[in-house]
Amino acid sequence: MEEKSMVRQLPSVDEILRWPETASLIASYSRGVVVNAARRVLDRLREEILSGCREEVSSSEIIARLRQEVRPRLRRVINATGVVLHTNLGRALLSRRAQEAVKTAVAHYTNLEFNLATGKRGERYSLVEELLCLLSGAEAAMVVNNNAAAVLLALNTLAAGREVIVSRGQLVEIGGSFRIPDVMRQSGAILVEVGTTNKTHRRDYREAITERTALILHVHMSNYRIIGFTSEVPVPELVALAREYNLPVMSDLGSGSLIDFSRFGLPYEPTVQETVKAGVDVVTFSGDKLLGGPQAGIIVGRREYVERMKRNPLNRALRIDKMTLAALEATLRDYLEEEEALQNIPTLKMLLCPPEELRERAEKLAQMLEGLEGITVQVIEGFSQVGGGAMPTAQLPTWLVAVTVASLGESALLKALRSRVDPPVIARAEKGMVVLDPRTFSEEEIPLLVEAFRQVLAEGWA
Ligand SMILES: *Cc1c(COP(=O)(O)O)cnc(C)c1O
Repeated sequence: MEEKSMVRQLPSVDEILRWPETASLIASYSRGVVVNAARRVLDRLREEILSGCREEVSSSEIIARLRQEVRPRLRRVINATGVVLHTNLGRALLSRRAQEAVKTAVAHYTNLEFNLATGKRGERYSLVEELLCLLSGAEAAMVVNNNAAAVLLALNTLAAGREVIVSRGQLVEIGGSFRIPDVMRQSGAILVEVGTTNKTHRRDYREAITERTALILHVHMSNYRIIGFTSEVPVPELVALAREYNLPVMSDLGSGSLIDFSRFGLPYEPTVQETVKAGVDVVTFSGDKLLGGPQAGIIVGRREYVERMKRNPLNRALRIDKMTLAALEATLRDYLEEEEALQNIPTLKMLLCPPEELRERAEKLAQMLEGLEGITVQVIEGFSQVGGGAMPTAQLPTWLVAVTVASLGESALLKALRSRVDPPVIARAEKGMVVLDPRTFSEEEIPLLVEAFRQVLAEGWA
């Protein structure tokens, strides 16, 4: 009975819409969004009341819930994990020029598929093909939705109904259920595994070649390493072997970098240029891993193969949109001058940020956090990760801001930071403390981090 009268006392949607706080929400979002959100908030409160788990409902609580409910679901977060290419947090951030290019491409009509010289229909890839060829040394190039799509398209075009030889040591699974054997099946190609998990020899490949063979596939071990008693056939040797039988070689590089990171003390990763130079016929890689561009699957290689892929009807389903194209072109243009790429592309800047600079940023945040009540802060040494399945063994030395809050355990603090503040802060726990890695947050985000902790401490919830 009492619950029923509580339900009756709930305001109506119309009443909520008349509250002054609601007006500002309508101005920021839209009436439809707010009305819809108000209904959901009221429904949920009604359920909570009737199930007996509510004593009272205040209007300020209704407004707070409404605020949460109207927020767009895709939200900015602060990445304090130190994982640069965090797949769950959207991988690479775009350079300023790439952001501008996207803005232009979406606010105006563009020559996406229009040849301005001839006035006839153009090809969307032509806008980046020249750049990709210049940077990689390949004859031809095209771009699809992501690298998984690139691998699928290449296998389907070059090997549907025929056999593809892969070393057992390279049958990788990338996060999000991209598995080479599954992609192979989807493409219609038939997988022929050779060698063993730890060792594959040239003769293993040779013995597997038959008249049904369409392709030799090399997959870069992007997110794992096999160490100890191991051997794989180096790419140039695979190419030499394939030439003997007139077969193409494809390499799925995964990350695919245009810069040799070993020059900067990071682990060696084969570059796209080297792979093309070694004679590989088709090379595929991601746009948003080490390249630091938008999500995309880039294919470079011999013209005859790339042209066949462009004509494959499957390509229509995998093609990139104009925002991606705009961002990719702007990103690639920076690579024309390596120094520009290193200065402008956030992924590269984060990966190569000098430890002194990280320490300075950590100290600055620590100093500001120390001003808060109920918090213990220290700056400690630690490691960041590349992420995105790239350079899995790389340990990038960094300085971490380690925080403990007396009233909260580390998992409660992590939860509060990601669910109770705006923008949410994603951090990690280490040695019983919450640690924040300045490699992946910027100087400009420091005040937001401080505000996040201030809010968590003020709420005092456990
Ligand atoms: C990451 C990766 C992929 C998938 O690339 P997406 O761009 O995420 O689709 C495929 N192959 C390898 C070896 C990878 O590392």
